[in-house]
Amino acid sequence: MDALISTSDPDAAAAFAAAGWAFWALLGLCLGSFSNVVIHRLPRGRSLVRPGSHCPRCRRAVAAYDNIPVLSWVLLRGRCRNCEKPISWRYPLVELLTGAAFTAVWWRWEGQWGWAGAAAGALTALSCVAFIDCDTFLIPDELSLGLAAAGIVFAPLNPTLGDAALGRLAASAGGAVFGLGLCWAVAALGEKAFGREAMGGGDIKLLMGVGAWTGALGAFDTMVLASFAGAAHGVWLIASGRLGRRDPIPFGPFLSGGAAFTLFYRLPFGFPFNL
Ligand SMILES: [Zn+2]
Repeated sequence: MDALISTSDPDAAAAFAAAGWAFWALLGLCLGSFSNVVIHRLPRGRSLVRPGSHCPRCRRAVAAYDNIPVLSWVLLRGRCRNCEKPISWRYPLVELLTGAAFTAVWWRWEGQWGWAGAAAGALTALSCVAFIDCDTFLIPDELSLGLAAAGIVFAPLNPTLGDAALGRLAASAGGAVFGLGLCWAVAALGEKAFGREAMGGGDIKLLMGVGAWTGALGAFDTMVLASFAGAAHGVWLIASGRLGRRDPIPFGPFLSGGAAFTLFYRLPFGFPFNL
């Protein structure tokens, strides 16, 4: 029997697999490019589609050949072709991060196209949250509530939430409610303990969104990881004199990082759910 792509032919199978990897890596780089647009424009309430990319300094439109993820930034040595003002290294960083996230998704769930696409989309939104919160100390509802809604919609495909579609749906909805309650409780406790707001409503809605993708245990793990990482970062900043004791630190980047990790792996101890 002749088939166009015979899986019994090792060369064809290897080429087919390599094409899959290249597809996800390139898709990630391109969506990372779009993430840069979201990070810049969403907090400013501007359209994500119009106008096309332009230099933030001289406003000149960026030509397609200067808009290739990572490569253009390297070739132009991080400068605008028109005004030669520097272009932040954050642009290629976001593209590389997204490319790496998409590749990791395919590595973890190779062959599960529907779920891989959903998980890649969630990771893209989480990275946008992290950078927007760094810039503005705000997490747009479009991203946090969008994550919550999408997490529930894609729950039947979510292999990290059990085996049966209905059970996955229940775990996702329960995770969203648990995440909301947990973050609200931690925020209320923190406000009592420190006498000021340590976490905002944006963080609370974000952990609701995270719970919809990772379930209650995942929301808990995310909170544990984010709290340790955030506290360590804060202590380091204060110790190195970069930050006053009462200066605010955005918590969204730590929640996003914790959630990204948790989507792939659950903390081994799973405390207190598997005691
Ligand atoms: Zn320019």
